Amino acid sequence: MEHRPLVITGNWKMYKTIQEATEFIKKLAPLVENSSAQVLLAVPFTAIKAAAEIAKGTKIAIGAQNMNDATEGAFTGEIAGRMLKDAGADFVIIGHSERRKLFHETDEIINKKVKRAHKDGLKTIVCIGETEKERGEGRTEEVLKTQLSRSLAEISAEEMKNIIIAYEPVWAIGTNQTATPEIAESAHRYCRNLLLEIWGEEVAERTVIQYGGSVKPDNAPSLLEQPDIDGLLVGGASLSPEIFVQIVNTEVAKIN
Ligand code: PEP
Repeated sequence: MEHRPLVITGNWKMYKTIQEATEFIKKLAPLVENSSAQVLLAVPFTAIKAAAEIAKGTKIAIGAQNMNDATEGAFTGEIAGRMLKDAGADFVIIGHSERRKLFHETDEIINKKVKRAHKDGLKTIVCIGETEKERGEGRTEEVLKTQLSRSLAEISAEEMKNIIIAYEPVWAIGTNQTATPEIAESAHRYCRNLLLEIWGEEVAERTVIQYGGSVKPDNAPSLLEQPDIDGLLVGGASLSPEIFVQIVNTEVAKIN
């Protein structure tokens, strides 16, 4: 079986105007041209169209950070997947812990969004991860199992081709408290076993599982050398092209 691709995603959250986004991509594109990694940027809604136009023909794919689960309707302030696709998005992040916590998104809502995104022709990055309290109570695996199985309920093996899973321990996001490679690998291995139990070997082997949580150029190599860490979801360190490129171009020597 072919090995899983290396996928590095930048999540810009609520940062960057259209001009800032296009300047960033103009700088980054030539620097990642020969990279072995796939490069994804989840940009603010307002910058998707311009970012996708500038990124055309480069190694960079553009996506969004959230969407509604309806196709259209009276939902003031919301955005539909078909609008994201129309603007040039290839993918959307669903269920980021900031959405779960600040906007009360449940696994059931996330599941509806994932299904709608695929119908709208978008790939998805589905985020899961335990809080510090849950880890302290020894409930990490229980939380990962619940979030993964419910967020991806009724998703077929075929549809799983359009999904990247991002393991993001909540205590590591924006805190400079990166999970050790051993802690991250253990959670990734557990998630891969869940994929095996639910969808079988082929899905378990081909699904990309990214790690996210205070990734920086200096900790990226030791995370990426773990056998079950196939990529990174990067927040703060994706806001500067000079820093992000170092993460994208990390030399990876996998431990077996
Ligand atoms: C994120 O936004 O998903 C994230 C992991 O942020 P940071 O890299 O800043 O911790």
